[in-house]
This record gives sequence, structure tokens and C-alpha cells, in this order.
Amino acid sequence: MSETVQTASPSVSSELQLAEVVNLLGLSPKKMRAFFESIGEKPFRAQQALQWIHQYGESDFSKWTNMSKSLRLKLAQVAAIDYPEVIYQDFSKDGTRKWVMRMKGGSSVETVFIPDGDRGTLCVSSQIGCALDCSFCSTGKQGFNRDLSAAEIIGQVYIAAKSFDKPGEKRERRVTNVVMMGMGEPLLNFENVVDSMELMMDDFSYGLSKRRVTLSTSGVVPALYDLAEVSDVSLAISLHAPNDALRNDLVPLNRKYPIAELLKACQHYLSSLDDRRKITIEYTLMQGVNDQLSHADELAKVLRDLPCKINLIPFNPFPHSGYDRPSNNQVRRFQNRLIEAGYTVTVRTTRGEDIDAACGQLVGQVEDRTRRQARYKAKQESNATQ
Ligand code: SAH
Ligand code: SF4
Repeated sequence: MSETVQTASPSVSSELQLAEVVNLLGLSPKKMRAFFESIGEKPFRAQQALQWIHQYGESDFSKWTNMSKSLRLKLAQVAAIDYPEVIYQDFSKDGTRKWVMRMKGGSSVETVFIPDGDRGTLCVSSQIGCALDCSFCSTGKQGFNRDLSAAEIIGQVYIAAKSFDKPGEKRERRVTNVVMMGMGEPLLNFENVVDSMELMMDDFSYGLSKRRVTLSTSGVVPALYDLAEVSDVSLAISLHAPNDALRNDLVPLNRKYPIAELLKACQHYLSSLDDRRKITIEYTLMQGVNDQLSHADELAKVLRDLPCKINLIPFNPFPHSGYDRPSNNQVRRFQNRLIEAGYTVTVRTTRGEDIDAACGQLVGQVEDRTRRQARYKAKQESNATQ
């Protein structure tokens, strides 16, 4: 959906090109200041613009009443607030909500809101599909189309936050946490992800603390070093295996960046933070694959030197995945073994399963550029006829 005050077609480019209409939605605080300077305005206007957009959800410049009429008219000529179109919404019995949002080019991505007491966690996508093809992930099976722009990433938070607004009332903070755990590998879309995380944490925008914004990665090692230079968000690492032989099978990226290198990059990231924080290790449990007590023992050894907590995710099934979820007893045995070894271990409860909103079930509609989707479908069909 696009609300512009004039008829020119808006651009989702985050470049500050005045020849085109600039979409203000995805501009980080720094880029917003640069934008106002570029149109001859004082940088403090950036704070006002960020508040109108992200705190009031107001996309009509004519209502930005703390700006002069001439500035509002100028904005209407050179800028727009262009956000994704919601094409489908679903509500789970357990309170989880899912939005399917159509992005430019026709593909769509999914965003999920998970309420839990006072906490409301939004699971945000960073790419359309994913190029990395982890063996147990349905997003991976959809193939890859493109990176999302910063406007398309923060647009998911914008839409979720706005959906809770009540007319005439001050906005309640319902989205208290954001996890970059939807579709895509966030570290392969570095600049746009960093810009949108800055907006999540900016006091004039969503104002979330760095502990409440989590980036989950399958382990793009060089980008982890880059992240340490520019950000202090919380980090979750999708490990899923305690040794390289097994991880090579589950997370193909491991062949490029093996576990030892990944853990070294994690240590470096932690050392760049000024507070005592831990990394979250995500471990999806698949029956008979990585869920044996011997795996737990090996994992306890491998993680010995890393300040971390472990989050076990019982595998969420999807058609023809070839994997099963372990029994609850097996999950508990695995958890206890790690607890005995001295770790803090949580088990992620599956939420929103009835609306296909659980981890690894987010598929969107990806116009695949990799042909992986076609290959996977062909395999599914041949399995179904056997
Ligand atoms: N690409 C990033 C973030 C998105 S995936 C990453 O891999 O970390 C978010 C989390 O869901 C990851 O830990 C991923 O391994 C997990 N996941 C993927 N498919 C799953 C499935 N079918 N069941 C359970 N967890 C899954
Ligand atoms: Fe991509 Fe993450 Fe899925 Fe792997 S688990 S295919 S990195 S989205």
C-alpha cells in the first residue's frame, strides 16, 4: 500500500536521490538527518519525522503539524511513506498473529507476532526466501528472490505496531521485542538489516533496548566481525549440530565457515560489547539426527568457553521435509543433560502452529531465482506417487 500526497510513483530506494521521490520509511536516523539537510532543513527535523512515522504511524505529511506548511508541501513533492501491502492476516488460537505482506515485484514474506504475558515478540523477515538451503528449513526450500529494502524490513514493524492502534488513544507498546528470525539470512542483507535495527532501537522511533532486538544467523562469519563494528544487538546463532560433519549436512554454509571459526567470531562479538551479555545458541532437534545424549555431551564440550544460553527448538514439520520432531521425553532428556553440564537451557514452545506461523514454517510466496523450489516440488511429487 502506498500513501503519497502526490501522484508520482514512490521509490523504495534508500539512496538519497532528490531526482526521485525518497521513501522515508526505511531511512535510519543518520540517513534521515542527511535527507533533511539535503533539502536545506535543520537536522532536528529528522527526529520529528521519525516520531510521526514510527510512533504515530502517520503517513500523511499534511498532518505533520509541528512542521511549517511550506515544509509539508516540500515533503509531499520529494518524499513518500511507502510501506508493504498486507495481503493476508491470520490469528492463531494461542494469540499469535501472522501477516503476509506483498513486496515490490510480487513476492510476499511473512511476519509473526507472538504475545507472551507482558512481552510481545515480532518475528521479522530480512529477505524474500533464502539462498542458504539448510536441510530442515522450509524457507530454504522456497529458494531465493532478493534482499528486502530497509523500508520493507522496518515496514513489517510499522504495520504490526500500527495494527494495535486504537483511534484517538496513545499507542500502547505491544511490540516489545523483535527477532530477525523470519525468512532469510539477515547477515547477507547487511546494510538494510543494520539500518532497520537502528530504527527499532532509536528513541524517536520504536525505542527498543539492544537486549530486545535479536539477530539470528546461520553463521556468516565475516559479517559477524562487521556487525561487531556497527551494532550491539543481541545475537542468536543457529548451530544445530555439535560437530562439523553433521553441521555440514544440516547447514551447508558450515562448509565455508566451520564451527571453530564461527565460535571465534562469537567470542569477538561478545568482547566488543560493554555489558555482560550471552549469545543464544539455537539448536533445532530432529529425531535420530542430532537429538542423542552423545550430541548433548559433544555440544556441552564445544560451547565450553562461550558465554551462552541454549535454546532448543523441537523441529517443526512441513510436508516431505524428511525429518521428525523428537518425543517430548527425548527433548527433556537432551535439555537435562545440558543443564547437568552447567548450561541454561530453554525449550522453545511452538506457537501459532495452527496458522503455519511456527519457526521454519514461514514460506511466503517466493518467486524463486534459484530453481530450488522447482527441484524441491518435483521431489515432493515423486515421493507422493511412490
Ligand atoms: N536465517 C537465520 C534466521 C531465520 S531462521 C538463521 O538461520 O538463523 C530462524 C530459526 O528457525 C533458525 O534457528 C532456524 O534454524 C530455525 N528453523 C528453521 N527451520 C526450522 C524448522 N523446520 N523447525 C524448527 N526450527 C527451524
Ligand atoms: Fe536460510 Fe535460516 Fe532457513 Fe538456513 S535456517 S535456509 S539460513 S532461513
